[in-house]
Amino acid sequence: MPVSPSFSPATHFYDLSPGTGAPFYDAVEPADFPALTLRYRNDRAAQSVGLATLNDSEWLNHFGRFEPLAGAQAGPLALRYHGHQFRHYNRDLGDGRGFLFAQLYDGNGRLLDIGTKGSGQTPYSRSGDGRLTLKGGVREVLATEMLAAQGVYTSKTLSVIETGEALYRGDEPSPARSCVLCRLSHAHVRFGTFQRLAYEKDDAGLERLVDYCLTHLLTDNAAPEGKARIISFFDQVVRRSASLAASWMAAGFVHGVLNTDNMTVTGESFDYGPWRFLPVADPGFTAAYFDQTGLYAYGRQPEAVGWNLAQLGGALARIAPADVLTHSLSRYPDHYEQYAEKAFARRFGLAEFDPTDGTDERPVMALLKWMGKTGAHFEQVFFDWYGAGTPSADQSAAPRASDSPQAQLYARPDFAPIREVLLHGKPLAASTRAHAYFNRPTPVTLLIDEVEALWAPIADNDDWTAFEKKIADIRLMGEALALEATSGF
Ligand code: AMP
Ligand code: MG
Repeated sequence: MPVSPSFSPATHFYDLSPGTGAPFYDAVEPADFPALTLRYRNDRAAQSVGLATLNDSEWLNHFGRFEPLAGAQAGPLALRYHGHQFRHYNRDLGDGRGFLFAQLYDGNGRLLDIGTKGSGQTPYSRSGDGRLTLKGGVREVLATEMLAAQGVYTSKTLSVIETGEALYRGDEPSPARSCVLCRLSHAHVRFGTFQRLAYEKDDAGLERLVDYCLTHLLTDNAAPEGKARIISFFDQVVRRSASLAASWMAAGFVHGVLNTDNMTVTGESFDYGPWRFLPVADPGFTAAYFDQTGLYAYGRQPEAVGWNLAQLGGALARIAPADVLTHSLSRYPDHYEQYAEKAFARRFGLAEFDPTDGTDERPVMALLKWMGKTGAHFEQVFFDWYGAGTPSADQSAAPRASDSPQAQLYARPDFAPIREVLLHGKPLAASTRAHAYFNRPTPVTLLIDEVEALWAPIADNDDWTAFEKKIADIRLMGEALALEATSGF
């Protein structure tokens, strides 16, 4: 079957600059792959945009051969951007192995992009092959499923198709298998997209891109006029980015490559490379092997996001007063702290921690310090205390305190103040431990050893069972936590 009646295509990014595409993008061609084998088809995500009715052969045509979707863009656009990578400015960036394939609305009227990874070379590939390894695709699926289930505002992986090529990579056993991935993302307008325009001294381009974002992407737009709209735009990006940093911290997630080309103005988490989840609350835990100084370590992520925002502010200073932009930026730490309280509370099924808590220290800091000191398993703490604020007949006020594998840690006197802020927190409407997920002794996790163990049978025997079972487990967890519907803006 073709697309469903709810499919709602758009061409807004193309319309920003029809003709040559300058200064925003270049028209490109997809690679012609020797084989197409469907490996992951996200029907939940597809349903949200009216694409779940495609049969598998139509799916391969659109997301492997990139036949245009009716009413959407006529062809792929490689997006132009620069960015700071590990704090060094790099002009040699841009979509080098991906492109914007199509735009469309979801059922909530949110404009989404279907962007690709591994779809072939573009003018921005430099010496790269424009390809993605199958393992890279599998890892992006796992990260997006897990973060979505935990209520993080993230891009969704729509499709992974194996493409039958042999790739050579320094950081994977080679030859490596190849794939092409499609992601559904709330825009691919990066901080680096603005940086490039500023570098080119293209003030008209900067203005147009701000207007594009305000009109199509950011909902909180009371649409001020003149320079005020640029400040309003930056202010929203600052808040959304603070929320993003907070949600990564609460998820125990280390993105790994927090370069300005990997951050979008919508505050959506995206582009998953060497990410890792934390085993224990260690601020110095680093995801990428090439991050030798720990610049993007777990505990430094909020600071890295703040630094990136300063670069975006610097680009916008060409078209708006620098002192007003600086004022917006100066509120980032406060926004971060507020969002962090909320994000960590949500992980316990709470709208907020005990509002009457009289202790000096913020609950998040107290919790992270306690976790660090005791070496508590990060996920297990949230699992054991989820729903603590909703004591009911079938559930003791201290859920799992005695049956958890780390029960002895909760008996320590230094946990007592934390227990108090959890038990007297304000529950989220949907939070309940009634779901069967909570009958497990341990939570669903995605630590690096587990990721490798999911990949091994695929690499060795083309056996996808463990991978598929994991996705089912993660989705069950997502259903139990019921946080996904409340993520985002
Ligand atoms: P990433 O690390 O995926 O965020 O990519 C950083 C930059 O390198 C972007 O401009 C990518 O398009 C480019 N890039 C990464 N891998 C490849 C590849 N295999 N071929 C071409 N360009 C690539
Ligand atoms: Mg990237």
